[in-house]
Amino acid sequence: MDHFQIRDGVMHAEDVPLPRIAEEVGTPVYVYSRATLERHARVFRDALSALDHPHIAFAVKSNPNLAVLKVLANEGYGADVVSGGELNRALAAGMKPEDIVFSGVGKTHAELLQGLDKGIGQFNIESEEEGYELAAIARRHGRTAACALRVNPDVDARTHEKISTGKRENKFGVPLDRAAEIYARLASEEGIEMRGIAVHIGSQLADLEPLETAFGKVGALIGEIRAAGFSVTHADLGGGLGVPYKAGEVLPSPADYGAMVARVTKGWDVRLMFEPGRVIAGNAGILLTRVIRSKRSGNGPPFVVVDAAMNDLARPAMYGAWHDFEAVEPTGERMTAHIVGPICETGDTFAMDRECDALGAGDLAVFRTAGAYGATMASSYNSRGFIAEVLVDGDKFAVVADRIAASAIMDAERVPEWLL
Ligand SMILES: *Cc1c(COP(=O)(O)O)cnc(C)c1O
Repeated sequence: MDHFQIRDGVMHAEDVPLPRIAEEVGTPVYVYSRATLERHARVFRDALSALDHPHIAFAVKSNPNLAVLKVLANEGYGADVVSGGELNRALAAGMKPEDIVFSGVGKTHAELLQGLDKGIGQFNIESEEEGYELAAIARRHGRTAACALRVNPDVDARTHEKISTGKRENKFGVPLDRAAEIYARLASEEGIEMRGIAVHIGSQLADLEPLETAFGKVGALIGEIRAAGFSVTHADLGGGLGVPYKAGEVLPSPADYGAMVARVTKGWDVRLMFEPGRVIAGNAGILLTRVIRSKRSGNGPPFVVVDAAMNDLARPAMYGAWHDFEAVEPTGERMTAHIVGPICETGDTFAMDRECDALGAGDLAVFRTAGAYGATMASSYNSRGFIAEVLVDGDKFAVVADRIAASAIMDAERVPEWLL
């Protein structure tokens, strides 16, 4: 459930009519709903209520906006970060260092040091090499870093190949069949404290079965590691739960997920950790756009050119992803159209042959489910700058990220004197 609904013929974000935001802030613009974020955060937490004090770390990469992070910090969420930049954001939003988990295959020396310096709660180590490097840095600074070893369970998440992370050929984690020996070797390193296993097999999972298979393998591995005499007190089960992108689409609910987790992890005797991203933020945001013009195309459907483009919302171009597209003030009339942005790439296509609300030049429309992997994946391609982000709360709203004009990006560039 979300708070982007038609009221008196006009789509609102909570109690704010979207045309008001378009007028005051301009388009295209991302609009997030605080009530929806909070609702999703609570639904996910409630779904895990059968577990013993689970730790929930929001995957910052899905929506790193400071105001969004603050809403989730207020809900008691920690953060899963994958770069020093994200770590700074989580801290700036008020997340406690001990509630922050640092994932990622390519943490640099500087980032490992930064995590140690800030006293984060856990490093998810993705290779034996990284473990030794972190241990050496920690020893040099007289610290001990709490670590989980991320394993690659070789499970097909049955999602888009670009967001599948748990197959043998993917770059993430250490192979499951070598995990116990690597864990044992790292456990004897001074400077790090091996305390757990982490797994994350992919994103936008439409099916719980691959997750259940992966968790089953983690359970067996924990048993193996303990049998060898080492301690395991934590298990980080990652994120990945999918969300409906199409009206009427049904996916496993957080409650289904929570019940599966409770069943599979029974008797593990660890603190469970979770890293949800999309399931919290996806349907808590929309991309508000205005139709520039409608362009005839021979005998086919018209091209409806909107002012948002693939640089603002990359998912359709990157993953062939579907986003529901709806008029802000629907008349009841329908049309079939190709929905495209202004960028000079055929890939700048949001939808082909889409049956949708009838729209013409100047009309406002939204792409739904744009709260996760939306603004965060933006680029300035075609010198379009970065668009603004707005957070709505009841009948008020605030700009929570300023538009960054193309001219501001140009201002950071220099023509060297020897070219003049
Ligand atoms: C991307 C990612 C997540 C979040 O995935 P969602 O599908 O958004 O829930 C969690 N953990 C890790 C390590 C990730 O890379």
